[in-house]
Amino acid sequence: MGKFGGASVILALVYIISSVTFIVGLKMLSHPAKARNGNLIAAAGMTLAIIGTIFLYKDENGNALHNYGWIFSGIMIGAIIGTLAAKKVQMTAMPEMVSMFNGMGGACAALISIVEFNHFTEVFTKSGWSEVPWQLTVNMTGHLLTMYAGALIGGVSFAGSMIAWGKLNGKIKDYSFKGQHILNLAMFVLALVLIIYLLFQLDPANYRLFYLIPVLSLAYGVLFVLPIGGADMPVVISLLNSFTGVAAACGGFLYNNKVMLTGGILVGAAGTLLTILMCKAMNRSLKNVLIGNFGGNHITASQNKTGGNYKEISVSDAAVAMAYARKVMIVPGYGLAVAQAQHACHELEKLLEEKSVEVKYAIHPVAGRMPGHMNVLLAEADVNYENLLEMDQANDEFKTTDVVLILGANDVVNPAAKTDPSSPIYGMPVLEVEESKMVIVNKRSMKPGYAGIENELFFHPKTSMLFGDAKTVLQQLIAEVKML
Ligand code: NDP
Repeated sequence: MGKFGGASVILALVYIISSVTFIVGLKMLSHPAKARNGNLIAAAGMTLAIIGTIFLYKDENGNALHNYGWIFSGIMIGAIIGTLAAKKVQMTAMPEMVSMFNGMGGACAALISIVEFNHFTEVFTKSGWSEVPWQLTVNMTGHLLTMYAGALIGGVSFAGSMIAWGKLNGKIKDYSFKGQHILNLAMFVLALVLIIYLLFQLDPANYRLFYLIPVLSLAYGVLFVLPIGGADMPVVISLLNSFTGVAAACGGFLYNNKVMLTGGILVGAAGTLLTILMCKAMNRSLKNVLIGNFGGNHITASQNKTGGNYKEISVSDAAVAMAYARKVMIVPGYGLAVAQAQHACHELEKLLEEKSVEVKYAIHPVAGRMPGHMNVLLAEADVNYENLLEMDQANDEFKTTDVVLILGANDVVNPAAKTDPSSPIYGMPVLEVEESKMVIVNKRSMKPGYAGIENELFFHPKTSMLFGDAKTVLQQLIAEVKML
């Protein structure tokens, strides 16, 4: 039994139960049908961990928490803001909200490090640094390292997520200047050197140098995300997500709090895996992301190069082409989410299936504005998960597809990724829709997508444009197919 009797044993049990709910919840998130419940289970576990910590925690001297007024005021304010924001947010603004929340997690982790550093230096200034026994000094090295790492990683995550938030809602434009990646690298190296110096040479005379770590990390976070544009934002978003997890895990180490540690490690590991998957999907190297050296800075090179003539198709002709096809592949993109046309899309799918047409969905890993965006969107409309094809499977099937219907997708079907080395999306694997017999593209205009570049697919001989808002066009298509 623990030093402080039953309460600490119960708290340990609470932490084990909470940690299990995080793992079970995370596992359930991998399947759209179970994702909602997975989220609820993990949230219940988090609530349990918070309540357990507030009422059962005892420090090394057996003291319980006392400043309940502050604690519950903070929880109340956070809960009210979070609930209102989540209830009010439009589905299309979801990615930016996720980015904002991720940044808040990073800021919390960095603040924990700063507060703990202040506390630490206060204690040791009073009791005298030279009187610390050497064993404690060894522990302190680990303790200090965790504080510095939490401030650095949390600061990068906060600043980077705020820039990502601005970019996702269009308020911040890609920006870079000559030698920016060298400056980024220099700031990163300087922060590391500072950490090593303060790890072994910390004394009251240089305490203040610590505050340079969060300052450098904020500047690095801003400068490393600012130039990233084109089709590379998804990699950065998942990387920032993993940073927040690692920074939170540092907080878990500092407080010797097992559930905070488990939660942080799970987020960090899941974010890292997602980053690796995104890098693979985008054919990018992580090294380039870390020094902020790719993406938007090439945009002007390949802008407006294609031009040319495109042909249009009427709603009734598009309906006939699909109703009499053997196989139709739907490519959903960001525009489908903007139009909130997922239910209409599912209805069209069911109608076509009643006419013995085989209908499948081709899902590009970065379609939309957040990882898994299209899966979430289609799951909301009860689209059968079995009908969703991953990019490689879909690319194998385009050759045997009669009609591809592109709904509000652009960059993810842009052949420039394969053919134009000056394009910001060059090298990113795309859906090879032009391999099918016919391509129908629904969007509202000839405007470019997120990467800001023209799409030569729209001028391809096999392609016909079907202009209009995705929901309106789908409703018209449904009415036409019903009449056939
Ligand atoms: P895009 O942003 O390339 O294109 C979306 C298209 O949808 C636009 O060209 C727009 O054309 C059209 N559109 C917008 N509203 C509507 C509407 N109401 N009805 C019909 N069409 C509409 O989207 P993709 O999904 O193809 O590609 C995703 C892009 O976002 C990639 O570049 C990716 O890197 C980036 N990104 C992805 C993230 C992720 O995690 N998934 C995160 C950050 C960025 P028009 O205005 O003419 O209608």
